Amino acid sequence: MSRAFNFSAGPAGLPEAVLQQAQEELLEWQGERASVMEISHRGKAFIACAEQAEHDLRKLLDVPPDYAVLFLQGGATQHFAQIPMNLAAPGQAADYLLTGSWSLKALSEAGPYVDAQSIASSEGDGFVDIPDAQAWSVRADAAYLHYTPNETIHGVAYDYVPEAGAVPLVADYSSSILSAPLDVRRFGLIYAGAQKNIGPSGLLLMIIRRDLLERTGQARARIFQYAAHAKEGSMLNTPPTFAWYLAGLVFKWLKQQGGLSAIARINAEKAELLYRTIDESAGFYRNPVAKRARSVMNVPFTLHDPELDVAFLEQSKAAGLLALKGHKLVGGMRASLYNAMPLAGVKALTEFMTEFARRHG
Ligand SMILES: *Cc1c(COP(=O)(O)O)cnc(C)c1O
Repeated sequence: MSRAFNFSAGPAGLPEAVLQQAQEELLEWQGERASVMEISHRGKAFIACAEQAEHDLRKLLDVPPDYAVLFLQGGATQHFAQIPMNLAAPGQAADYLLTGSWSLKALSEAGPYVDAQSIASSEGDGFVDIPDAQAWSVRADAAYLHYTPNETIHGVAYDYVPEAGAVPLVADYSSSILSAPLDVRRFGLIYAGAQKNIGPSGLLLMIIRRDLLERTGQARARIFQYAAHAKEGSMLNTPPTFAWYLAGLVFKWLKQQGGLSAIARINAEKAELLYRTIDESAGFYRNPVAKRARSVMNVPFTLHDPELDVAFLEQSKAAGLLALKGHKLVGGMRASLYNAMPLAGVKALTEFMTEFARRHG
């Protein structure tokens, strides 16, 4: 058996070189005579590893010094609730842009804490586009504006960064962080679950402008306070040490690839090849998303005849192309093309798709 091309939406494939290094040093790490999983997070060796990961992330994303980087737990879903607790007074206005399932969930989880309102939504059209930048405005008293730059399930991505004036912009970057350069200064808070483009599940990365840590927010235990985590260097309690270590290896791998501009070029090439294959299939395959809003990371597509879905999934799996089944909300197929997916994987997929269409068209 050998490793296949893995198109899973998350937890997703990791760079093979990273897994190999982790395997080599799994039992004994850096002269510790123990695994990185088996040592104290407060010891010198792990602290150095944790600091190096933060340092490399800051370099990759060019994070300014007035932003804190936090390594947290709970997944993006927990922070759908925790962000309003930290950034808003009870019942304060908080605005949301809705472009798919994840932004809907973020809005719904904020409900108990804030006056959370959708100020623009593409739900009426089945989440196949993004709202025009001119089509919405933020309430002046909003604690923040929340949006989802890349909707993992619907395969919808923004081609602009929303402008909210003095209202801080909060972005759920779970499925597109580190896929291309971004200007951190445009944001108040960026958060991302690790399991798509960073590392294993169990880790949540947050980049937060330090002045937002001073907001009073709502009554909550210290463990829910971002300011407390920032003060303790994300070691208020035991952090997910293995995931943090592995994320550090991924950051090093990204630097070796030439950084985010280089990885963005490869990602664009991968997505372009797959969308071209879909668009030139004479209707055999179809992606419903408006061209300007097509995601580079997650590409949902349907077959012209859903009766062929089972055969497509069986044969693609046999051809070494894993996890192409679409999310149940959208149906059909979905190929996730995160950083760790090499161009060769997308070539193998598109060749398979063309051949499958030829045989069943
Ligand atoms: C996967 C995903 C989530 C959910 O992450 P959990 O870690 O399962 O809570 C939230 N938002 C986006 C955009 C995602 O892709």
